[in-house]
Amino acid sequence: MKYLIIKNFHCSEQSVLKAYQIKFLSEKFPKIRLYVFGLRAKRGGHFDRIIRVCGILPLEQAMPFGLLKYGLSKRYPSKPDFVAPGDLKKSYDIVIVGGGGHGLAVAYHLACYWNIRNICVLDKGYIGGGNTARNTAVIRSNYITPESVNFYAEAVRMYGQLSNELGYNMMMSNRGQLTLAHSDATIRSFRMRAEVSKHRGTEIEVVDRQTIKEIVPNLELDIHAQPILAGLWHPDALTGRHDSVAWGYAVCAMELGVEVHQRTEVTGFEVVGNRVTKVKTSCGDIQCGQVVQAVAGHSSVVAKMVGIRLPIRSYPLQAMVTLPMKPFINPMVSSTALHCYVSQTSRGELVIGGGPDPYELYSTRSSLELKEDLAGHACEMFPFLVDVPILRQWAGIVDMTPDYSPIMGPSELDNYWLDAGWGTWGFKATPASGKYVAQMVAQQKVPEVLQPFGVERFYDFGLVNEMGATAASH
Ligand SMILES: Cc1cc2nc3c(=O)[nH]c(=O)nc-3n(C[C@H](O)[C@H](O)[C@H](O)COP(=O)(O)OP(=O)(O)OC[C@H]3O[C@@H](n4cnc5c(N)ncnc54)[C@H](O)[C@@H]3O)c2cc1C
Repeated sequence: MKYLIIKNFHCSEQSVLKAYQIKFLSEKFPKIRLYVFGLRAKRGGHFDRIIRVCGILPLEQAMPFGLLKYGLSKRYPSKPDFVAPGDLKKSYDIVIVGGGGHGLAVAYHLACYWNIRNICVLDKGYIGGGNTARNTAVIRSNYITPESVNFYAEAVRMYGQLSNELGYNMMMSNRGQLTLAHSDATIRSFRMRAEVSKHRGTEIEVVDRQTIKEIVPNLELDIHAQPILAGLWHPDALTGRHDSVAWGYAVCAMELGVEVHQRTEVTGFEVVGNRVTKVKTSCGDIQCGQVVQAVAGHSSVVAKMVGIRLPIRSYPLQAMVTLPMKPFINPMVSSTALHCYVSQTSRGELVIGGGPDPYELYSTRSSLELKEDLAGHACEMFPFLVDVPILRQWAGIVDMTPDYSPIMGPSELDNYWLDAGWGTWGFKATPASGKYVAQMVAQQKVPEVLQPFGVERFYDFGLVNEMGATAASH
């Protein structure tokens, strides 16, 4: 990647002509990354929108330069990230239920790119306190259906730019992901996944045992009874700091005038004709123009309050971390047969996860059975881990759909939009669902990329059978 740094480009929000000059440069030299020094653009202004759409960064906002600037300055402008918004207003143009990454990303995109600012985000707990801060932060796009690959590849691309876009450090780290095949049938499905991704422009390949050994030298290839035969290598896969994603979106949305009300539970809705007219909350009722539901883990519960039945079943999903160790695995490693994946955080802890619990439940307790199971499988992959203590174990609730794909689209009510069914795969989708769900609500029209994911697919046999969303790969 080459960088072109334009110096002393001082301009105001009105300098749309200059924005178009930069746009021209970025289109003419698509492979060159543009940083513009001295650029002043009010977030959410027209100028700001043009340069963001072109993927151009004010130099000060580019993360390494931003850190350097603040690191060397004595005048670090420390301001509180979250300012309490006060009481709820009587009405909002858009009410977003759920202050996880998804709800906040939708709010940010509506405010920044569609200039809709009279928005409130309501969360019954605290922002990111749902699954956003409980996941294991695997960000990948090596799915099997073209519909999913299109969508998740855009999310991976957006994640790569997100710290810069929001000016908030999400500690994104491009580790790559290696999924392991222990049978011929799995290798066949890996070939399909690799081909679909290549066809859509993402470099994903099936690798042999020798290459696996080079990518992860400490991995035990000859696991008893289930030797590793091949792998699916996804070099673009990322990991990052999950709660920062919610915080970053929240801070930027709030800067644009969005109100984020924590500890405000939605308890019901008033529906007149085919429209939701009021959202009832633990802090009072509010009138609404549109409502977006983004409550992963409680999608059927909230949808039921408004009279909608969703094809979702909810299960606990657990994960755990070990004490920190010296770095020894760079990529995320996931086994389809062992139902276990392992990655190492930048602090050195090993993150270990697997598939959901086998029974439906709304409880976030951890179980000894799962811990034993996951620890046993992690030790099969990395036998020297046997003496490493487990530091923490936790659970979230995941909403599983029959086809392992999300539900994004309109509902049977005219002004109630769904962002649901995120199962074990929703963290990686956050920026893309934020972008496209916001576009859908703003334009009142489903963007092409979201069309396969409407809830109507369960009634007209249009399922997106996403077997690349295997529980153990996340
Ligand atoms: C252990 C685990 C590991 C995972 N690993 C991965 C992974 O590696 N990669 C990946 O892509 N995905 C992963 N996931 C899935 C991912 O975390 C979720 O799909 C994603 O975070 C959903 O984000 P969200 O913003 O939609 O929901 P959440 O972050 O859950 O936010 C929903 C919010 O809605 C609020 N809410 C609920 N009901 C109400 C109400 N009545 N009123 C007001 N607010 C309400 C909740 O308090 C919550 O804050 C994992 C999940 C778990 C549990």
